[in-house]
Amino acid sequence: MPTLVMKFGGTSVANLDRIRRAAKRVGVEVAKGYDVIVIVSAMSGKTNELVGWVGETSPLFDAREYDAVVSSGENVTAGLMALTLQEMNVPARSWQGWQVPVQTTSAHSQARIEDIPPENINAKFAEGMRVAVVAGFQGVSPEGRITTLGRGGSDTTAVAFAAAFGAERCDIYTDVDGVYTTDPRICQKARKLDKIAFEEMLELASLGAKVLQTRSVELAMRYKVKLRVLSSFEEQSDAAGTLVCDEEEIMESNVVAGVAYSRDEAQMTLRSVADRPGIASIIFGSLSEAGVNVDMIVQDISEDGRTNMTFSLPTEQIQRAETAMDAIKGNEINYTDLVTDQDVAKVSVVGIGMRSQSGVAAKMFKVLSDEGINIKVITTSEIKISVLVDRKYMELAVQALHDAFELENAA
Ligand code: ASP
Ligand code: MG
Repeated sequence: MPTLVMKFGGTSVANLDRIRRAAKRVGVEVAKGYDVIVIVSAMSGKTNELVGWVGETSPLFDAREYDAVVSSGENVTAGLMALTLQEMNVPARSWQGWQVPVQTTSAHSQARIEDIPPENINAKFAEGMRVAVVAGFQGVSPEGRITTLGRGGSDTTAVAFAAAFGAERCDIYTDVDGVYTTDPRICQKARKLDKIAFEEMLELASLGAKVLQTRSVELAMRYKVKLRVLSSFEEQSDAAGTLVCDEEEIMESNVVAGVAYSRDEAQMTLRSVADRPGIASIIFGSLSEAGVNVDMIVQDISEDGRTNMTFSLPTEQIQRAETAMDAIKGNEINYTDLVTDQDVAKVSVVGIGMRSQSGVAAKMFKVLSDEGINIKVITTSEIKISVLVDRKYMELAVQALHDAFELENAA
């Protein structure tokens, strides 16, 4: 029988009623003849609560025990979903990650899936089980310890199962009915897209769109998993949502597919750094050792052998970055000041159409200048342009760009 993967996020399993609703959708697919693998998240808010408990108990926690605690939310919803399906006379059972087994690396709290041997679950399908309900977000390390895949990791679990079982499709049920041109909460004119290319989705996810975990999109792209994002709240179960697919499957796309933003950005400048070979390597080497995710980088033109080095990073990593920079100040780096600006945001436009159409950057900068918004840092890739701006202008920038690229006409 063909296999389908259906993933339900935290809001879709937030209480027993919602679990029943989700189970009904599963029942519809079973009736169509699919064997279904259901991946569940923890009830919404649960993982945050568990993370909080760990931090309160042990500030410098043992990551293996963190994983033992925070993975537990998914165990509850997996069992409840299996029970609900059984009540509907659908043969179902639950599986925790280690039972499948979902084999991962031992990088606790951010483990990567290495393999999902399908034999155990397939043997049960062969015996007549119609639904395997799998706890998302978790796996087991080579040492036999419970691991988790990083926040939002159930999306990645779902795509990995779809790849491992050769599923016809991987449906991600969430609280929005698809992928939007931008966040409808800050731009009323945001439109739902019928289709979006893997690469665009990957950029949007990593630039701040929260609808899918970035790694899940990477994985879907690599294994060509047909990925669909749809709402579990809408009444008709055939609501199409958004299909994330190969760009060849999209007939004609806008130059810009979407506008993404990220609020939690900070900017740091090292003033008057000695400008000679090896400096950037020392600065960014020590930031990387400290686990700081540097994103954008600008180095000024140098004057009298000195230059300014500016970079952006997530606000939560400021402390770590400052400590790392203090530690190399005495070395040959010898900068005069370290200036941190916490009130910045990153706004990006993304679209594969940019590869073949010029002028997108010029238009973006013009739009921002017309609104009186100063650009602090710029980065580009083949299919995206990102700028760092004062956070107070973030929403205005998103709305103005959405208008300028006529995204209200997107579909
Ligand atoms: N419950 C986990 C989290 O909140 C994993 C997930 O839902 O995807 O990060
Ligand atoms: Mg999620």
